[in-house]
Amino acid sequence: MTQTQMPPAAMTSSPTASDAPAFSRRAALMLAGGALASATVFAPNIARAAAPFAFPPLPYPEDALVPTISARTVGLHYGKHSKGYYDKVNQLAAGKPYADMTLAEIVVAAKKSGDTAMFNQAAQAWNHDLYWASFKGGFQQPDAAFAKVVDQQFGSLEILSRKMVETGDTVFGTGWVWLVKDGDKLDIIGMKDGMNPLADGKTTLVGVDVWEHAYYLDYENRRAAHVDAVLKKLVNWQVVSDRFG
Ligand code: MN
Repeated sequence: MTQTQMPPAAMTSSPTASDAPAFSRRAALMLAGGALASATVFAPNIARAAAPFAFPPLPYPEDALVPTISARTVGLHYGKHSKGYYDKVNQLAAGKPYADMTLAEIVVAAKKSGDTAMFNQAAQAWNHDLYWASFKGGFQQPDAAFAKVVDQQFGSLEILSRKMVETGDTVFGTGWVWLVKDGDKLDIIGMKDGMNPLADGKTTLVGVDVWEHAYYLDYENRRAAHVDAVLKKLVNWQVVSDRFG
């Protein structure tokens, strides 16, 4: 009877954050292609790719985003909000079929089945992984191929950024503004709460968090100024270019 007494995988102790080194996600990014690339890459703990998920380490010090985002905001946003979503996902996945899925698979499955409680937590865990990873290395210009697509469709990165700021301002309350690859085209989408484009067959290139917790300590009610600064001073557009493929 010892087998039945063994805890299911999701009940075992969580791996430490060091079990999910950034390079493994990076390596996956280079190897993966197509619409599922971003979904796969940012699933934490890629070796097992299932719950319990290790909370991915912040890929830079908490003060690395100063002055655009303060160390205090990063400390709270990453250390409390991002971590809280992971903790909740692991609680909700324990003993369920979710425990054998990747984080991205949970997002899609929970959305399709109408499991709002799990969807909200899993989507936010995934959204924040993408968000923090977008700033690694600091602001860099897009590569030539992606810049050409941006120029052809929007005229410039400046205009694309302005449209993302405008879209971010149209999200009432909490949400995200996403830049996605839809076929060969780019699209900018504002979505409520933790909603993301994962289940829509689009590749998520970059997302800016417009929940007040992302900016209120630093920008008070000036959401547009925050989104503008993030896009122009923090986003590593080379990373975004890699996601575009
Ligand atoms: Mn957030």
